[in-house]
Amino acid sequence: MNLGENPFHELDIIGNNGNMEYPNVIEVSNDSQSFERTLVHEIAHQWFYYMVSNDPHKDAWLDEGLTEFVTSIYLTEKYNESIGFEFASNLSQISPTSDIVNIPLNEFERGEYVPTVYGKTPILLRDFFNDHGGQVGALHFLSEYFNTYKFKYVDSKIFADFLKEYFEEDNSEFLEKWLELE
Ligand SMILES: [Zn+2]
Repeated sequence: MNLGENPFHELDIIGNNGNMEYPNVIEVSNDSQSFERTLVHEIAHQWFYYMVSNDPHKDAWLDEGLTEFVTSIYLTEKYNESIGFEFASNLSQISPTSDIVNIPLNEFERGEYVPTVYGKTPILLRDFFNDHGGQVGALHFLSEYFNTYKFKYVDSKIFADFLKEYFEEDNSEFLEKWLELE
């Protein structure tokens, strides 16, 4: 899986159950159940959060949602889709989610943030890319997106415009079902 070149030569990994990302440093889980998913997720944040940056309060889906999406793709490639998307799919099915994904964190109804951003968002993207080149197509799209916005700052509108331009089609109807773009 290749999302684009990471120019940094060092990534420090701390197994302290922190489950948190920083530039060139990640804190991962130390329990064997969730170790791999967390490790892949926190590494992927170097691409989506650090090298391509966004406001994590207003557009959390752009870092957490995209990161969880590529984590699910990685685990699908390694195992299979039901394992790869198990976490996202359980979250989005078991718990209530918000219709609109890009609302500020303090505007989510209680308990809806995690299922919406880590659950519903990767599933929405998976279903979209099922009709747009599958997971290979998704990775190609994400690496183009990464290379275009590397060391830049993005928001939901920039992502939406990039997607429409990339596929040369008006995906407004799909995008506006879950993104507020005004
Ligand atoms: Zn994360």
